[in-house]
Amino acid sequence: MTRSSVKKTTKKTKASTPKKQYVYAFGKKTDGNTTMRELLGGKGANLAEMASIGLPVPPGFTVSTEVCGYYYDNDQSYPSSLLATVKSAVVDIENQLGKQFGGHSNPLLVSVRSGARDSMPGMMDTILNLGLNDKTVDGLAEISKNPRFAWDCYRRFIQMYGDVVMGVQAKNDSEEDPFHAVLEKLKSSLRIELDADLSTENLKELVKRYKALITKRTKSAFPQDVMEQLWGAVGAVFGSWKNDRAILYRQQYGIPAEWGTAVNIQAMVFGNAGNDSATGVAFTRDPATGEKVFYGEYLINAQGEDVVAGVRTPNAIANLEKEMPKSFKDLEKVRSRLEKHFKDMQDFEFTIENGRLFILQTRNGKRTGLAAVRIAVEMQKERLMSQETALLKIPAESIDSLLVPVFDPKSLKAAHKIGQGLPAGPGGATGRIAFTAAKAEIETRRGNKVVLCRTETSPDDLKGMLHSQGILTSRGGVSSHAALVARQLGKVCVCGAGDVVINYEKGTLTAGKTVLKEGDYISIDGSTGLIYAGMIESTDSEVKRVLEGGMKPANSYTYELFQIVMKWADKHRTLKIRTNADTPAMAAQAVAFGAEGIGLCRTEHMFFDGDRIDYMRQMILAVDEVQRRSALRKLLPFQKKDFVGLFKAMNGRPVTIRLLDPPLHEFLPQDDAVRRQLAEKLGVPFDYVIDRIKALHEENPMLGCRGCRLGILYPEITEMQTRAIFEAAAQVLKGKKGIKVKPEIMIPLVGFREELADQLKTVHRVAKEVMANRKVRIEYLVGTMIEVPRAAITADEIAQEADFFSFGTNDLTQMTLGLSRDDMGLFYDEYQRKEIYNKNPFASLDQTGVGKLIDLAVDKGRRTKPTLKLGICGEHAGDPSSIDFCHRAGLDYVSCSPPRVPIARLAAAQAKLRNSKT
Ligand code: ADP
Ligand code: MG
Ligand code: MG
Repeated sequence: MTRSSVKKTTKKTKASTPKKQYVYAFGKKTDGNTTMRELLGGKGANLAEMASIGLPVPPGFTVSTEVCGYYYDNDQSYPSSLLATVKSAVVDIENQLGKQFGGHSNPLLVSVRSGARDSMPGMMDTILNLGLNDKTVDGLAEISKNPRFAWDCYRRFIQMYGDVVMGVQAKNDSEEDPFHAVLEKLKSSLRIELDADLSTENLKELVKRYKALITKRTKSAFPQDVMEQLWGAVGAVFGSWKNDRAILYRQQYGIPAEWGTAVNIQAMVFGNAGNDSATGVAFTRDPATGEKVFYGEYLINAQGEDVVAGVRTPNAIANLEKEMPKSFKDLEKVRSRLEKHFKDMQDFEFTIENGRLFILQTRNGKRTGLAAVRIAVEMQKERLMSQETALLKIPAESIDSLLVPVFDPKSLKAAHKIGQGLPAGPGGATGRIAFTAAKAEIETRRGNKVVLCRTETSPDDLKGMLHSQGILTSRGGVSSHAALVARQLGKVCVCGAGDVVINYEKGTLTAGKTVLKEGDYISIDGSTGLIYAGMIESTDSEVKRVLEGGMKPANSYTYELFQIVMKWADKHRTLKIRTNADTPAMAAQAVAFGAEGIGLCRTEHMFFDGDRIDYMRQMILAVDEVQRRSALRKLLPFQKKDFVGLFKAMNGRPVTIRLLDPPLHEFLPQDDAVRRQLAEKLGVPFDYVIDRIKALHEENPMLGCRGCRLGILYPEITEMQTRAIFEAAAQVLKGKKGIKVKPEIMIPLVGFREELADQLKTVHRVAKEVMANRKVRIEYLVGTMIEVPRAAITADEIAQEADFFSFGTNDLTQMTLGLSRDDMGLFYDEYQRKEIYNKNPFASLDQTGVGKLIDLAVDKGRRTKPTLKLGICGEHAGDPSSIDFCHRAGLDYVSCSPPRVPIARLAAAQAKLRNSKT
């Protein structure tokens, strides 16, 4: 082969597969920016952005999320070019700082940090002070003229590396962290209480013991080669993407497993270099309430996780003004610069090294629902964002936190106050004390309300926190893990309650003279930080009180915020919002929340009250039409009365009424005593009742005689219900107020055009009769639910008979997935763990599967009948991402439960805004 031909081939391969860029620098030269989160992760993208606008960011580089994908696709290995690229990126940092990685005189130390597209605080691993070994530690001691500091860094590094990379961890729940045990043993033998009192010599001894621990546990020595350290750390960060905590977190927030994490490698700066050094976390506004105040905390002479870990309770940021006035000023400047640049509330990490400020991270701050609303509204006012952006910035679910109950002021006054902590997640929570996450889970599963009380929480407590009403910690500040997670989960939280002592061994919580045990009731107010013994009653939120007339609008800022956001939402959305309501009270509540109609009134709920159930049972047990009709005649006035109430409450808005749907056995008594009473009441022999119940037995009632099959089998049921609807409509129309009525009659469980046609005949006939009798004209529609896959597939045929379709996505999901909602308990956890379902398909619409059927039905239905009205009435109608789907699918309305109406209004506006952007 000639030389030129070799060259040619190389060139050719290069041209056909252009070399992928896996590494992106930030610092003097910056490759990335804030829009590149997918590739660089949130942390990496924002480090790049901050570096490029001249904020003081220590230099470094990001290994992209694509490498994470490669790592998992290729048996935990790396692309071949990566080794050299990383090496040269390290050289770039060395050159910028005049330090050497592994150098003995002026060593470069780095942090190796995880960073996914969406931040997953504390869920994945980060390693600090990497690059220290037995030689470089001396170099660092000398150049810093601070041996204690150098050895402090070294012991921190060995501990983190030993834990995260080499897996030296507690073997079970009851074992103490082994590094912690070694440290405590040394401290107690020296009679030292605080880490800060350990001398250089003590730290050297600690390093020795840590190394011995690692060797003993892993049978290999702590690595001295800095490159080996670096690759070990990179592997551990990628590995942490699939740890249990991260998986659980992804589940909770619907983050796909494919995203992967990036790895950020960055020069270290040191908040532990002396008393002119510090580290902290700050928010540009209060993330709990949304108020525009500088918020956060710091620790002097500390590093990294010290603040977040909640081991020492840090100082409030306001104190920094006194302690380090110059740095505080610098920090204030950064605060306003960050908000103006990122145009949102920022949560940022900083370190002060010998009086010099560095910024280590910024991201849009996680906030409570209340804060999300307030910040969006106020930032729009300040012109930091447009109305559209402000709307998109509020997670639709946040609206809920303006509507949840709060402590009743009267019972709050009478409550027994026992202590106070930092208010970290607003709202009131009452429940039994649980000292462990596991206990919280057990109690909640038993149906008890729980307040999780811990000295501090760690990422392993996430599950227990999810199960709790509120979280109380005795240590740690407002940026501690507990506070952070509580804000994100919308949980009530009081943290750093110094006057509360929790003793796990004794199982007590002591505050002053009060001693509470696990299982006792406690109440915490996350808006004031106050802690109370016993239970406190709750009352309606301010918004609800205003809406119901119990409070003046002018007295509630929360209500004002609510109104502003709802007004904006209504301006932008095109989807109409209806509600699922069966009673006038539910309907009235939904209307107050902004519902524009009823999308689903379930008539079966109307058959349970008082005497009605007897007539219903009589109807079911009837042997022939004559008996059935006689029972139905007794039911008619009740149904009619219910519809009158509903039509009045809806005051002219459309009302969709579904005819009887559930399998009949649901109405029949289960136990013999009640069956005997029934027989007596109906004047039939007990055996007769038993025989009829046997005859009605079905192996699989969900797929048996229910829905329109009932009406087809017993047309007199359809007849009675239709009559009740039209009689009620006539009465309301002719009433004094002349309220308009728009009934929409919905036939359930249709799969064949002929089924609908059959029922239509009865409906139209009875409607005509009533209208003629009463001499009124009632505008009405008759349509069907689309909940059987066959209905979606033959929607073109069914549309010939129907005025409207309403997607019943609960049944449609059950039947499309072949999965009963009530029987998924046995395997659901495993499915979640294996991430087979990203989200529960009954909570959030399976858009790729069930969604296809909806798209198909919409298309076929409208082709047959362009005026066909389309809606959804399954539980998915209250879920923001499903609402987004409904918007895209071109539905006319979504119909959700009354309390979710405000969320749906906002989600519908967001869907419109999101999908009209190009
Ligand atoms: P997380 O994503 O869990 O917040 P980070 O990667 O932000 O983890 O690291 C945790 C902490 O470590 C940071 O808050 C910061 O204080 C500290 N840290 C990370 N990198 C550096 C660095 N280059 N210099 C000094 N401290 C650092
Ligand atoms: Mg961080
Ligand atoms: Mg159904």
